[in-house]
Amino acid sequence: MLEAIGRFPGNRIIYRVPGSMPAYGYIAFGVIDRGTNVLQARPTTICPQNCVFCSVDAGIHSLNRWAEYIVDPELIVNGVRKATSVKGGGVEVLLDSMGDVLTYPWLTKLVSELKKVPGVSSVAIETHGLLLNKYIIDKLDEAGLDRVNLSIDVVDDEKAHLIYGTRYYDVKRVMELAEYIVRETNIDLHVTPLWLPGLNDEDVVSIIKWAIKIGAGKRWPPVTIQKYIRHKRGRKPRGVREVSWDRFWKWLNKVEEETGIRLHWSMNEWGMYYARRIQPPVRKGGKIIAEVAGRGLFRGEYIGVIEGKDYLVTIIPRGKNLKPAEKVLVEIVEDQDGLLIGRMLDTLPS
Ligand code: SF4
Repeated sequence: MLEAIGRFPGNRIIYRVPGSMPAYGYIAFGVIDRGTNVLQARPTTICPQNCVFCSVDAGIHSLNRWAEYIVDPELIVNGVRKATSVKGGGVEVLLDSMGDVLTYPWLTKLVSELKKVPGVSSVAIETHGLLLNKYIIDKLDEAGLDRVNLSIDVVDDEKAHLIYGTRYYDVKRVMELAEYIVRETNIDLHVTPLWLPGLNDEDVVSIIKWAIKIGAGKRWPPVTIQKYIRHKRGRKPRGVREVSWDRFWKWLNKVEEETGIRLHWSMNEWGMYYARRIQPPVRKGGKIIAEVAGRGLFRGEYIGVIEGKDYLVTIIPRGKNLKPAEKVLVEIVEDQDGLLIGRMLDTLPS
């Protein structure tokens, strides 16, 4: 069961997720297996920023969330161990989170535990870098972290404060720390600016030039540009439109031509390949009984543990309020990548 340990303003519950909970099935925490050798592992949903483009509506000013999670490291480690036993090695664990992993209190412990799991070949984190400092970088280096995927999207503070929704983001400081990572540690740096068409076109070009200049990409590609995609529950920056994939690739080709910097990378160059995946215990259309563990990330949703299975499901209760430990009958309506979403059909006697 989820344990409520605090609250954000607006009655948003902060849960501790015990190591005994299942690691698979839920999008906001645990482990996600998309059928390659790269596992996404999500130990927290907390974020110090409030980005205007955030696809998962994270941060203190979130309008759609009614819960946050901080996960015991054992849950992630056990989930990764389960996947490596199926995939047989060569696994990268990407700590990517629906928040920022640098808020996670046991990050260095988690990295060093993951590095000890047989079959794990690399561990990476994804961050915007607001909470980076030399101390944490050195600790992550000691723990064996292999790569930082750093999203820097603009080069001046005024714009940064505007798009990150916080005045604490100091672009120069984050860039200096990125240079420190490249220069003073064994950690590789991969820079991943998000292109917000019309808002940061020139910033993105400056950032990729800077990434190459400082020596990002010791073992992995140095830079990739992310495409802005509007999400149903994400935030939408005013004046920024989502471009088609065709337009996105054309813009990338143009930037590649103008700068001479490579921006397209194959799966092979990333060391990525398809690998056997953890199978969910039920598929779309199936019916299961689930025990309610607590609130889901977004308002109105709940998390359930599937009866008799080590697997989670998002429960859409269709307007009903559910209580922890309540049992419900659920029909699975989505199962992509083993992330189960189910519509509640009925409540059951406990
Ligand atoms: S985009 Fe990332 S850093 Fe920004 S608010 Fe969302 S989760 Fe946080």
